[in-house]
Formats: sequence, structure tokens, C-alpha cells
Amino acid sequence: MKVIYCRDFGLDCNAKMKGNSADDVVNATINHGVGMHGQNAKELQTPEKRTEIAEKIKEE
Ligand SMILES: [Zn+2]
Repeated sequence: MKVIYCRDFGLDCNAKMKGNSADDVVNATINHGVGMHGQNAKELQTPEKRTEIAEKIKEE
């Protein structure tokens, strides 16, 4: 299982996103950022930003 911790982005948040693939967990993280932290979906959906998010993936 691939996971991303929201706090790894410097946010004071205990959310943990999970997915079976890197794409799944990156998408879950983007949805979380937009829904919970009011981030801009368009800005997060760039290839650069997706790569940056994917760098936080951990295997659990
Ligand atoms: Zn969060």
C-alpha cells in the first residue's frame, strides 16, 4: 500500500492518504488538499506538482 502523510507537506494535519498505485495516492492527496485545505485544484494538477507530491509516497 502506498501512503502519503499530509503533514509531510508542512501542514498541521493528521490525514493519511492511501492508494494501490502512485497515481491513486497522488489523486487522493490532491482531493484532500482541495477539499480540506482550500488548495487550488488546477495548480495541483500540473505534472510538476504531481511529481512533487509523488516524492512523498511511502510504502506501508
Ligand atoms: Zn491535510
